[in-house]
Amino acid sequence: MSFASETKTELCQAVPQNSCCRKAECYGMLLFGRSFSGNSVSLTTENSSAAHRAAQLTAETVGVFVDISTSLLRRKERKSAFTVSVSGDGQRETVLAYFGHTDKEIHLRINRANMENDCCACAFLRGVFLSCGTVSDPQKDYHLEFVVPFMNLAKDLSSFISEIYELDLQPGLLNRKGSYVVYIKGSEHVADFLTYMGAGKAAMSLMQTKMLKEVRNNVNRKTNFETANLDKTASAAAEQIVAIEKIIRSAGGLSTLPEELRELAVLRCRYPEMSLRELGAMLSDPLSRSGVNHRLQRIMDIARVL
Ligand SMILES: [Zn+2]
Repeated sequence: MSFASETKTELCQAVPQNSCCRKAECYGMLLFGRSFSGNSVSLTTENSSAAHRAAQLTAETVGVFVDISTSLLRRKERKSAFTVSVSGDGQRETVLAYFGHTDKEIHLRINRANMENDCCACAFLRGVFLSCGTVSDPQKDYHLEFVVPFMNLAKDLSSFISEIYELDLQPGLLNRKGSYVVYIKGSEHVADFLTYMGAGKAAMSLMQTKMLKEVRNNVNRKTNFETANLDKTASAAAEQIVAIEKIIRSAGGLSTLPEELRELAVLRCRYPEMSLRELGAMLSDPLSRSGVNHRLQRIMDIARVL
């Protein structure tokens, strides 16, 4: 199951206690469906819990029974879509009137009278999310969005969200293939929004994924850093050994080197993996890292002129 459908299933597990909230959630689902007019009141979802929730709430609050039809969405993935619709002009009129709408509206807007109390805002947004929302897998992105068919409705939703004091966020709005997308980005904002709607488990799992990703990135960064350093040490050692071997092959060999350089040259060839500090400690007269470095430079200078 995708993260989005897990979230929706979680949201459908608890039915709101207050009847005002059940009405607000039902309104969010129907208003933000595919259509909400005298000709058609319907919504389509891939989540069967969401479809049944819409049916249950509409029957309970408005007293209208809906039809649920199933169609195969993507044959390969065996995904189905559930379409919830209100049949009959009379029934659709009842639904519109119940929520204070008529079939004469040119631009569909949010009727805030349906959110009777403070408790209803999160129920409404939960309904909207169940109807037209989705949330990305936190492994990939921290992104939650609502795909809305009408611009004014999308703008209304955006301002509705931005006015919620507890959330303290300003959603983005963009046009995608003729639909209007209201979106929320960033792990904190997305987690807060999930919690606000009532998907505490999904929010927790998002934050856990984020923590794991951060730990993994830190480990990778450290490993890369260490590997890079090892590579640098190894290639420097290889250069020094090439220089020393050049001296060994030359007339006179290592005996041409001053005593203090000769001992170091022998050690370097014997322990190619050692750091300069370690080499310095092995000398009969121990030397600091920079002292060893200086002597190795001298050896390389000698080799260069050979
Ligand atoms: Zn309420």
